[in-house]
Amino acid sequence: MSVAELQGLEREYAIPTYVRNPVQFVRGSGARLWDADGNEYLDFLAGISVLNVGHCHPRVVEAVRDQVGRLSHVSNLYYTEPAMKLSAALSESSLGGKVFLCNSGAEANEAAIKLARRARPGGNIVVLEGAFHGRTYGALSATPQETKQAPFAPLVPGFVVVPRDPGAVSDAVDSGTAAVLLEPIQGETGIHVLSDELLVAAREACDRTGAALIFDEIQTGMGRTGTLWAYEQTEVVPDAMTSAKALGGGLPIGALITGPRLADALHPGDHGSTFAGGPVVASAALVALELCSDEALLARVRVAGSRLAAGLARLPYVTVVRGRGLMLAIDVDPEIDAASLARRALLEQRLVVNATGPATIRLEPPLIVSDDELDEAVARLVAIAP
Ligand code: PLP
Repeated sequence: MSVAELQGLEREYAIPTYVRNPVQFVRGSGARLWDADGNEYLDFLAGISVLNVGHCHPRVVEAVRDQVGRLSHVSNLYYTEPAMKLSAALSESSLGGKVFLCNSGAEANEAAIKLARRARPGGNIVVLEGAFHGRTYGALSATPQETKQAPFAPLVPGFVVVPRDPGAVSDAVDSGTAAVLLEPIQGETGIHVLSDELLVAAREACDRTGAALIFDEIQTGMGRTGTLWAYEQTEVVPDAMTSAKALGGGLPIGALITGPRLADALHPGDHGSTFAGGPVVASAALVALELCSDEALLARVRVAGSRLAAGLARLPYVTVVRGRGLMLAIDVDPEIDAASLARRALLEQRLVVNATGPATIRLEPPLIVSDDELDEAVARLVAIAP
């Protein structure tokens, strides 16, 4: 089918929540995508930080094929090896407590919010200005953005919004606080790296009051910033964290991972989901987690990130380069519309990037991206200089 035909079906049958670009992708490999006409694209968005191991990584494909042909689903009323092995691998890779598997990032944050409220009944959840935690009601209530929240009021009560400021975080946390929930690097609102001072203030406030410090590592995790989890590059260890996006190697899965203190806060019957931790996605995630834990890959992410950042800083229309590892954003001259620029990159240069705001473009290529691909992406961004 042509893009025009797909747009016709969309107009008639798809609830119009998305603004899609007029491109139909039909194949992916590594950091490359192909459209229905056979044109090749460089993918510097990776499905919004999902394809960290690259499109169609052969080991992910093999794990999925193998599992789906034997057993695709049984529910959580029974045991399957991939779910338990994945829970163990996630715990051992990070906080050392227990794991709740689910199907997406928003669901992982829902589980985190329930965990925090179960540990401190009725408690508030402190969240930061500029945060994005997802679109379901709990996660949306933790996402203080007027345009996203206002049409869906009333939201879940008990969320306290504070500026990205250490003193404000510290002041907001008291004995009525169940959790501070934050992204160590805010992704959807333009790649804002939170300062160590803020993270330390949050840690100290939680230690002082017994609140839970929860990191949303849905976008920052799985090697994206040059360590498996972004918290490893900070001075702080959270009490719990959430993962999703790249965890499934391209398949939908999410996880809430606790440290020891919160490992048994949720009880039998407290939470669940039919598909959560199904054997196919868990098999894919086991491979993706192993690949993203590789020290050589993580070192490469740090080097590649520096190379890309340096290239971006040389672009004539760029005012700021922000981020860590391969989680980068550029601010462009204020008179340039970032969305139009991203669209021109896609349609004229076959480079996939994304605008996260009126003047900000986000770049999150697969972690396996080569130097040639990094340089090629910068060259394509030079070619669309207004
Ligand atoms: N948290 C963060 C930091 C995210 O970046 C996202 C998605 O962009 C989410 C939560 C929501 O994840 P999902 O879209 O899988 O529900």
